[in-house]
Amino acid sequence: MKIVPISLPTPFYIGPVNVYLIPEDPVTLIDTGPKTKEAVNALRAALRKEGLSVADIRRIVLTHAHEDHCGLARALRDEAKDAEVLVHGWETGHRAGRLEYDETRQLLMRAGVPPDEVEVMRRMYEGVRQYADSLDDADCTELTDEAELEFESGALQVVHTPGHTPGSCSFIRHADRTLIAGDCVLKRITPNPILSPDPIDRSRRFRSLAEYLVSLARVRALAPTLVFGGHGDPVHDYEELFNRYLRAISERQSQIIQLVPAEGASAWDVSRAMFPGTDDVHRFLGVSEAVAHLDYANSEGKLALELSEGREVYRKIS
Ligand SMILES: [Zn+2]
Ligand SMILES: [Zn+2]
Repeated sequence: MKIVPISLPTPFYIGPVNVYLIPEDPVTLIDTGPKTKEAVNALRAALRKEGLSVADIRRIVLTHAHEDHCGLARALRDEAKDAEVLVHGWETGHRAGRLEYDETRQLLMRAGVPPDEVEVMRRMYEGVRQYADSLDDADCTELTDEAELEFESGALQVVHTPGHTPGSCSFIRHADRTLIAGDCVLKRITPNPILSPDPIDRSRRFRSLAEYLVSLARVRALAPTLVFGGHGDPVHDYEELFNRYLRAISERQSQIIQLVPAEGASAWDVSRAMFPGTDDVHRFLGVSEAVAHLDYANSEGKLALELSEGREVYRKIS
């Protein structure tokens, strides 16, 4: 069973996205790239090289529902005459538009983001959303942990790896322990845990960093020999990367705890202190990262958390 990596351009800061083609029955594409002319043209050219066209795609599998990964899913499905689209059930909120959801706006307000900034983030998100068609639940088949995706000459097993998003999934070929990991494992950068409502109780926040650490350890137990990520080069030494991630996360933990002043601070305050002078897109990513780390420090008993006038305030434990 061959796995063909395909790099597609994106209009985003992160640069090109990797999607993966399994060019055998049923022809399967893992992630699709964003909805841009450049991406779809590059994808067509890559399919042609394998003697295929979009019409041959039978299955579209999504690692997660960020625009750079899922943007073309609906258009490709329609062109391929109803190819099946598979995504984890916990990606529901993502694939229908994150900041449109009242829940996300409320999470931002509770994190201390001022109303005018929430509005900037909403507008920014509207701009990003043009790069993906939304998919309804009825359009998708649910990916479940440990399910097998069968091919003519092999199989991929679904590994639910929440963290970057609640429904992020990876796919392992056990025969040679090759893993396709989406944005769970990226060679050059530590993936950003994105602020999301909890998929089970939407009034709560998804504990993204705690979940992510479990996912990283789970991937480690699979002992992958090769990891194909959503961006950048493949990873040949996951063990080294795993240790590097853990070090980066623990350094950020100490940094963030130090940034909480005696009188307490919101996640927004901490993100502004941590990333001063960042632009719009990165202010959302910054507050996501601050929330993820503050929640984790809180769950580890290193910071206290209290609600004050609808805003969450973290305090040092004296
Ligand atoms: Zn992503
Ligand atoms: Zn990505």
